[in-house]
Amino acid sequence: MEAPSIGGVRVRQGDGQTVRLARGASLTDFAEKINIDPAQLVQVLFNLGEMVTATQSVSEETLRVLSKELNYDIQVVSPEDEDRELLESFDIEFGEDEGGEEDLEVRPPVVTVMGHVDHGKTKLLDAIRKTNVVAGEAGGITQAIGAYQVSTEVDGDERKITFIDTPGHEAFTAMRARGAKSTDIAVLVVAADDGVMPQTIEALNHAQAADVPIVVAVNKIDREGADPTKVRGQLTEYGLVPEEYGGDTMFVDVSAISGVGIDSLLEAVILTADAALDLRANPEMDGQGVAIEAHLDKGRGPVATVLVQRGTLHVGDSIVAGTGYGRVRALLDDHGENVDEAPPSFPVQVLGLTAVPGAGDSFIVVEDDRMARQIAERRASRLRMAAQAAGTRRKTLDQLFDQLEKGEEQELRLILKGDGAGSVEALEDALSKIDVGDEVSLRVIDRGVGAITETNVSLAAASNAVIVGFNVRAQGKATEMADRENVDIRYYSVIYAAIDEIEAALKGMLKPIYEEAQLGTAEIREIFRSSRIGTIAGCMVTGGIMRRNAKARLIRDGVVVTESTIASLRREKDDATEVREGYECGLTIANYSDLKIGDIVETFEMREKPRS
Ligand code: GDP
Repeated sequence: MEAPSIGGVRVRQGDGQTVRLARGASLTDFAEKINIDPAQLVQVLFNLGEMVTATQSVSEETLRVLSKELNYDIQVVSPEDEDRELLESFDIEFGEDEGGEEDLEVRPPVVTVMGHVDHGKTKLLDAIRKTNVVAGEAGGITQAIGAYQVSTEVDGDERKITFIDTPGHEAFTAMRARGAKSTDIAVLVVAADDGVMPQTIEALNHAQAADVPIVVAVNKIDREGADPTKVRGQLTEYGLVPEEYGGDTMFVDVSAISGVGIDSLLEAVILTADAALDLRANPEMDGQGVAIEAHLDKGRGPVATVLVQRGTLHVGDSIVAGTGYGRVRALLDDHGENVDEAPPSFPVQVLGLTAVPGAGDSFIVVEDDRMARQIAERRASRLRMAAQAAGTRRKTLDQLFDQLEKGEEQELRLILKGDGAGSVEALEDALSKIDVGDEVSLRVIDRGVGAITETNVSLAAASNAVIVGFNVRAQGKATEMADRENVDIRYYSVIYAAIDEIEAALKGMLKPIYEEAQLGTAEIREIFRSSRIGTIAGCMVTGGIMRRNAKARLIRDGVVVTESTIASLRREKDDATEVREGYECGLTIANYSDLKIGDIVETFEMREKPRS
């Protein structure tokens, strides 16, 4: 194609062909694909009003604008596709059971409890766990690891159910947003004395969108004013028709407090699973599944609770989970007991990972440690690129000029590291709510779970960011490097302390506002002339203080005659720095000698005003 001029740059045009680029690609990546000089793309983009460097990750939107201009059809590969391609390059297929029908075995359903706040989700999860501690099997005490398994008898068969121990649809949605389908059945909790509420509907919508069958637990039936029939009627309007009314949704009346109905609820879960789903998996293959909770344990390092979805996970397996990898050092079940293996639908805590995966990240058993490390590293570098791209602000020339005019742009950049995905999220969320006006802004350029690493420090150094460690510390040579690179690392263990300090820092970045504070007044009673120091005013300090070098105004008949400073100040025959109210003094005013008896000298200073 001929090269038309785009804003003065001649660039070879495409003919609409498709170019596939990863999220966070740079102009150099794009240029390589279409075989032109990256500098041209930089120039074109500049002419379109955006300034970026050739190797900087750019946003998807920027890539689109650019490709449209150059007549290419750009396809930004989704994170899921990207990861699938990555795994395929290692000959790994995630999400499929190996073998045929004959290799599949029934697995327990995995259940999430959802519903309106205060309708009893947490209580219900507690009640189920307590009434059904797999009959004292392992000595009892259950550990909160993010999920647990219970068993129940249905039609004479012992059946297991796995409950995800984080109530609420936020966790459910967060996982689904990452493409992880962890839940087979949703238990929708509705308080019988309160009825269907906004979050009931929200939860319902989420479950339906995910195509997850629902069992309704009508809770708090022990309460006065409980009206389980009304709940059935209300939900019918939303398409959840109770079985007893001819629909296919099971409604079970329960009391999480007294334990009434819990067994029936478990039975309903199994019956719904049997009727609506075909829950089978191949237990013989290498384990695969999803991380549902993960945190950094002070003694044990990264600890992740995973749900095995297919295959079996064994101690000693090489696994990769999100950007973490390692050899499984130990597996702990929901009683805190060591187990050697975890079959499908079994929740276990995994020890031995190098980094903390995010909730919803997949885990996969791979051939060896090396492969695990390579996959994890590739993922980490992609995430970094994507984060960079998301962080690149489109900066138009107009904005740039604006900023030039106003002086430096003020932005506080932060890197957040914490001991758990939840705390990092909570911190980021709270920080995003700090508002000190338009002049300064805050941007989190990277975040993660685990110790502060050298990688964090180098990013901070490159982007002039401050690192916030929430219940984590710097690792290895990170501290040394931070000192060398002049990177500020702040440690906190209380969210509010972090917020307060960061807010204060933001305020500190604001240009100070000064206000005038009056120091004192004096009345001129006499005038002396000295050939050496000029006109001297003999004053009586009538209020506050006169101070040498203080700013001063001379006021005559209520009008400011001049504004200057106190050049010299004397008390009796001696030089003084200050003279207080009620004393006489002699003073001169810098660059002004036309003083008159009766004039008022007013001293003041500019004080920085604290921002509210
Ligand atoms: P969540 O916000 O849905 O997790 O609700 P919680 O489990 O925290 O319960 C909210 C409140 O309702 C708590 O005070 C519980 O003690 C109470 N509650 C939960 N289930 C029942 C029940 O079956 N009967 C009664 N009377 N109170 C309940």
